[in-house]
Amino acid sequence: MLNLVLFGPPGAGKGTQAEFLINTFNLIHISTGELLRSEIAAGTELGKIANQFMAKGELVSDDVVIEMIKGKINDNPEAKGFIFDGFPRTVDQAVALDRLLNEKGTPVSAMLCLEVEKEELINRLLGRGKISGRADDQSQKIIENRIEVYRNKTEPIIEYYSKQNKHHDIKGMGTIEEIAERLIKKVESLYNKQM
Ligand code: AMP
Repeated sequence: MLNLVLFGPPGAGKGTQAEFLINTFNLIHISTGELLRSEIAAGTELGKIANQFMAKGELVSDDVVIEMIKGKINDNPEAKGFIFDGFPRTVDQAVALDRLLNEKGTPVSAMLCLEVEKEELINRLLGRGKISGRADDQSQKIIENRIEVYRNKTEPIIEYYSKQNKHHDIKGMGTIEEIAERLIKKVESLYNKQM
């Protein structure tokens, strides 16, 4: 199986690029942000609690997102592999993901980290906010908080995967197609090594 962690700050293009990767490698896309937004749209209790954190740009609790991931993995026993987008976001989540996947005998294959400058992130998110209406993309203050939360709580995961020799940086600037090509080439080279 090919299990990819698509990593990077908010606005790095994880969701957009995940689409290319799922089509090219026939993988299942798991985005915790999307799963949480469907809970909010459905008006569930979980959605109501999650929304209080998401609206401020803070993280939802590890327990909640880990349970969601577990459910999605178990719902797809025939999957050829998964792309994790927006998960893990803390080292504890990364440890939990390793545990879940190791139980299935199919560990994380690689972590692909999209690198984008801060100014570009803010511009992309404000632009997306105008189209998507996403509450957390509307104000520069919330966006900057999300980037700050990424630096403090999420970035330490890079070291976690580096120690396992699974961390790969990908330049996330340029056109969507250029970035997709870089990612696909990287995954192909890793995949060939694995075969
Ligand atoms: P995203 O769609 O990945 O940008 O996520 C939107 C928001 O959902 C984040 O700012 C967090 O509030 C929440 N969220 C998404 N994924 C996670 C996660 N793995 N852990 C905690 N909170 C998350």
